[in-house]
Amino acid sequence: MALPKPNQDMFDPVHRKITHIVDSHQLLPYQAALQDAVWQKKLRDVQDIAQQLQEKDDSDFGKTDLIPASDVEKFLKAASHIFLLDGLWKQDTKLQLTWVNNENENIKGLTAMEGSTHMLRLHTTHNKSGLEVLCVLLHEMVHMFLTVCEQEELSQGHQVDVRLFGYSRHGYYWQRLARSIETRATYVLGLKIDLGRRDACLEELVAGEMTARMAYFEELWDPNPGASGVSEARMVFEWVGPRKFEAIKRKDAERNGESVET
Ligand SMILES: [Zn+2]
Repeated sequence: MALPKPNQDMFDPVHRKITHIVDSHQLLPYQAALQDAVWQKKLRDVQDIAQQLQEKDDSDFGKTDLIPASDVEKFLKAASHIFLLDGLWKQDTKLQLTWVNNENENIKGLTAMEGSTHMLRLHTTHNKSGLEVLCVLLHEMVHMFLTVCEQEELSQGHQVDVRLFGYSRHGYYWQRLARSIETRATYVLGLKIDLGRRDACLEELVAGEMTARMAYFEELWDPNPGASGVSEARMVFEWVGPRKFEAIKRKDAERNGESVET
């Protein structure tokens, strides 16, 4: 089965919310936003944390108190305003941050929601620079927002298409919103923001044992030929293909208890 895209003929409130945000990134000119006092304040909050993280020494990474939870909360509240039309943080939203230092756990960040509390786990050893932590925070923020959207729909008795959220939670919704935030954050912060979309796509293909069509990549990456004459969409398509087969073969072997060559 191929990675699914939303059905354009059907009303999909989550897709509509994402489209609204993506449009705001394109339509709200940066100069106009800068005239807004609240926007300015929130941008400063985001920039403060970005700077704080970038000023860390190499020896700080690996420590379980890299930045306090109150600063991460301040960052997420401000980033919700700058990147998500205030869609993430409500009056009763809380954050519980845990730093993990487990070499065997190959994750940079993980998020889950319990009631109105976002449970965020950040890995110390796998995040090796301030920029990397910043990118992981934004990556996890997209997950948090989509979980909030999903819960809103479910609490109103609506159905959601779980496949669009994804088997690894990196389905179409995550990719589309992450793409837009990646571009907007790179522009607004003046830093090369990378939300790990290529790896996330691979993870999703493996988790769901899915195939992907070129059209999926063309919608979620740049479909136009770059300087090399090859489009970003094709490069990602050709990058994930062979890796997916390898990963699925490994998964099958592990499942059957066979030894795995790496
Ligand atoms: Zn993720």
